Amino acid sequence: MLQSELFTKTRREAPKDEVAKNAQLLIRAGYIDKLAAGVYTYLPLGLRVLKKVEQIIRDEMNRAGGIELLMPSFHPKELWEKTGRWNTMTDLYKVADSSGREVALGPTHEEVVTPLVGSFISSYRDLPRAVYQFQNKFRMELRAKSGILRGREFIMKDFYSFHRDEKDLAEYYEKMKAVYKRVFDRIGIGEQTFLTFASGGSFSKYSHEFQTITPAGEDTIYLCVNCRVAINKEVKTEQPNCPSCKGSELREERAIEVGNIFELKTKYSNAFGLSYKDEEGKPQPIQMGCYGIGLGRVMGAAVEVFADEKGIVWPEAIAPFSAHLLNLSAETDEVNFAARALYEELSRRDVDVLYDDRKDVSAGEKFKDSDLIGIPLRVVVSKKTLGEKKYEMKKRTEDSARMVGEEELFAAVNKNSLGDLPSDR
Ligand code: ATP
Ligand code: MG
Repeated sequence: MLQSELFTKTRREAPKDEVAKNAQLLIRAGYIDKLAAGVYTYLPLGLRVLKKVEQIIRDEMNRAGGIELLMPSFHPKELWEKTGRWNTMTDLYKVADSSGREVALGPTHEEVVTPLVGSFISSYRDLPRAVYQFQNKFRMELRAKSGILRGREFIMKDFYSFHRDEKDLAEYYEKMKAVYKRVFDRIGIGEQTFLTFASGGSFSKYSHEFQTITPAGEDTIYLCVNCRVAINKEVKTEQPNCPSCKGSELREERAIEVGNIFELKTKYSNAFGLSYKDEEGKPQPIQMGCYGIGLGRVMGAAVEVFADEKGIVWPEAIAPFSAHLLNLSAETDEVNFAARALYEELSRRDVDVLYDDRKDVSAGEKFKDSDLIGIPLRVVVSKKTLGEKKYEMKKRTEDSARMVGEEELFAAVNKNSLGDLPSDR
């Protein structure tokens, strides 16, 4: 992509009312725009990050046997009355049309997915099943001060599994713990993200959250110093020991929940009166599990964890581009020609490149913008580099640049393409 074609620009200041670091940096760098508290536009750069997060999650959900679908945001009131949540869910947005008919704006999709998938399950042969979607959720969040960590409208991956008995559910649930670990490892926040025991509601002893350690987190967890497991402070345990290794040395940390997994058991299938017939033809209740990840929250958590005083520092796997090519002599035909050729060659090699081809922007400003935007690798082409027949290369995490030849550059750059063609202009 040509930076001259991006309609967004970096800003020196974030809006005064924006207190969260993730939102301040993402707004200043041109990834998101704030429409209202907890409501954000994903601008072209931000959308690229979301797509990369989404693609990693999709890949892992497919490997876990999930089948993707897309359910609506408008939910008839009757469905929410069936489960009782029309009255008990305090963050539910309820809207009425001009005839007075009320609907809920979906904050989660058990009320839709349970009768939907259930209508196709009649016998034990139809189980297990797993479906998921990426979809906008709406929640009346009271504390919408955490930027994209807590939106009133936000995109969630929600995954639902259906099983013949508790044993099959429990086995699948264990498998999903490993799937989730892989998701966060691949995204690049695995080192900071911990499996955390949380309250399980009335049906299970525990549910599990994946908590990423950051001072911006809204939760407090106790992290076991022996194993990579934590416990949410909200959980009322008599026993303050590690639920995994039973160790008693726990460290208190601030963290944000980036995902969670939950054994719903028969709560929703019972509410909708769903059952299947076992081998003897006897009706049995359908067991369910649900598994969520907030995409914007993951993106915001990565900003909170890795940003430095100059701006955002993206993990390679979710960076909007792998290389930021800066042309520091954009008034010189020769340099334009060389930089353009490199831009095309990198694109041909499946490297996503943001090419800063802007004229009338100083080198200092280009460097500053590049640091703020946070693309993992910066490559400079100028009269000087052209003279030496080399490129100046620097990782966003490094302090100083070095001169490299073409082959070294191609070897250093990450191939993680959304499949862009170079812009024609
Ligand atoms: P929290 O305790 O932070 O409010 P939750 O328990 O309400 O989270 P779930 O209903 O389990 O969250 O949603 C699944 C996932 O969706 C969460 O793990 C989180 O990643 C994400 N999520 C939840 N609420 C929001 C929100 N308001 N904005 C962005 N992401 C969210
Ligand atoms: Mg919540």
